[in-house]
Amino acid sequence: MPETHEVIIIGSGPAGLTAALYTARANLSPLLLEGEPSSTSDQPGGQLMLTTDVENYPGFPDGVMGPELMVGFRAQAHRFGTRIETVKATRVDLSERPFKVWVGDPGAPEPTYEGNCLIVSTGAQSLMLGLDREIELVGHGLSTCATCDGFFFRDQEIAVVGGGDSAIEEAVFLTRFASKVSIIHRRDALRASKIMQQRAFDNPKIEFIWDTVVTEYLGEDSISGLRLCNVKTDVSRDLAVTGVFIAIGHRPNTDIFSGQLEMKDNGYLVTRPDCSRTNIEGVFACGDVQDDVYRQAVTAAGSGCMAALDAERWLEAQHS
Ligand code: NAP
Repeated sequence: MPETHEVIIIGSGPAGLTAALYTARANLSPLLLEGEPSSTSDQPGGQLMLTTDVENYPGFPDGVMGPELMVGFRAQAHRFGTRIETVKATRVDLSERPFKVWVGDPGAPEPTYEGNCLIVSTGAQSLMLGLDREIELVGHGLSTCATCDGFFFRDQEIAVVGGGDSAIEEAVFLTRFASKVSIIHRRDALRASKIMQQRAFDNPKIEFIWDTVVTEYLGEDSISGLRLCNVKTDVSRDLAVTGVFIAIGHRPNTDIFSGQLEMKDNGYLVTRPDCSRTNIEGVFACGDVQDDVYRQAVTAAGSGCMAALDAERWLEAQHS
């Protein structure tokens, strides 16, 4: 028989753990499924587990390490009675209440848990190039967030990989700090909107390296350069940079909700304006899984709080 819970939270980044903190303090005894350790950002604690210094989380004037911040989030949620299970949800059935959640074998006839209310905070992953040592270099010269890490590259020469709006926006932003930004793109035309393109073309600190892919990260403990290959000529060369920002897109972790929760074309969950409600009553979404715009730890935490309050009020209305 599945265990039944009032609130089940799936995902343990800043959004999920904040939702857990608030629902625990509302005496709802939430069950949080935090995921399982893996080599990608789809893991307990979310993307901050792959970050070193976090200098833009309010309340930490001297900065804080990403994993340390998440240990604190987790301990605080736990302290007020959140039950945390280190398991990954592999299937959900949201067709009726209580909602059903499987962990382990998704083909098992019985779900593992049932929840009267569900908070989805499974986050998103930055797409990566898939090169050797990529994950271990995150925070050591390799970044996926210019807003978070640009500040560390003052007066340095750095690179951005990608040709979409994100890459161009990040490159332009990074010129506030870096002395030079090389945009490495695999084709000879950008995907980014024309206005963004023009902004980059007009910026004297930006140089384009066309028809080129990164084949290797250079440097022992941190990035000291990139090995590049021109895909048209097959000629390789090294580019000396102290930082590289990968901006080739994000993927929300929404596979298990496909066909059940309303999604945008890019796979992000749709929430109702100014709240965390999804298309299914009793299912709420918060954090990066429903945010393809801001993608910050502090906005994720804020939306986790919203989801908890929305869930609490919704449950109250069900019981009254
Ligand atoms: P995107 O539009 O999908 O662009 C991804 C870029 O990365 C493309 O140029 C793609 O190359 C390249 N790429 C993908 N996989 C790669 C790989 N393995 N190796 C090398 N390059 C690779 O993603 P995005 O830039 O993150 O934007 C996502 C959405 O958000 C878009 O709709 C965008 O317009 C929007 N956005 C808007 C703004 C804004 O308006 N201010 C800012 C950011 C994002 P190809 O071009 O060859 O496919």
